Amino acid sequence: MIFFSLLFALLIGLAVGSFLNVLILRIPKGENIAFPASHCPRCGHNLKWYHNIPLLSWLALKGKCAFCRAPISSQYPLIELLTGLLYLTVALKTGLGASWFVTATLFALLLALSVIDFRYYAVPDSLNVSALVLALLLPLAKMADTALSGELESFAPYRDALIHTFADAAILAAAFWALGFGVKRMIGKEALGEADIIIAATMGALLGLPLALSAVYIAALLALLPALFAKGRMVPFVPFLALGTWIAWLFEPQITRWWSALYG
Ligand SMILES: [Zn+2]
Repeated sequence: MIFFSLLFALLIGLAVGSFLNVLILRIPKGENIAFPASHCPRCGHNLKWYHNIPLLSWLALKGKCAFCRAPISSQYPLIELLTGLLYLTVALKTGLGASWFVTATLFALLLALSVIDFRYYAVPDSLNVSALVLALLLPLAKMADTALSGELESFAPYRDALIHTFADAAILAAAFWALGFGVKRMIGKEALGEADIIIAATMGALLGLPLALSAVYIAALLALLPALFAKGRMVPFVPFLALGTWIAWLFEPQITRWWSALYG
């Protein structure tokens, strides 16, 4: 049973990863994400359904277009594999259900945002705001899971969780806004953009306040090395915020124990 749940999670993740590739390819160019159908960028041939199977098609075609043999970037199967593992890992922690799907999809959006920021130095609002909405809705997804298992006794804890989620999102967004405003005044350059403020809100909503601060701390530490070696080149911050959020979410019990051992 566990095996089939995890296999299901992996397959859903692979399929979502395939769609993420479309988002990553088309949103920065302002293209429609539904039309036209997937095609080879060199010969323009439309792909058959069996050329679109996540991971397997790329392996079967040995990374080349079926029509003109043009190489297909290994970014495609890599994103699919990462997204598959993402949905599987989240399922290991939450079990299958509404909160699994909402959480995993939120992280999938953060993955897409990271790749787009890394490649194009852009953070599309459409994906960014979608991630925030999912984070804000998470208490309702948890309530749905409890209701479906027949254990829902009262709405009160979920209403309180919802209020907390919105408050934590607002507090972290305000902190980022204030920090960005201060730094801009001091050095006269944009340090934290609007996109970072929206991601901060997502982090606050998903993780709650003490843990979200740990995530920002982890992100800052991770960003330090590439920032030192970039020598004036811009270092995109979104991938590090996303990675910090993922690590903090995954290791929440350990991080909480670590802090309470330090200050408890
Ligand atoms: Zn081709």
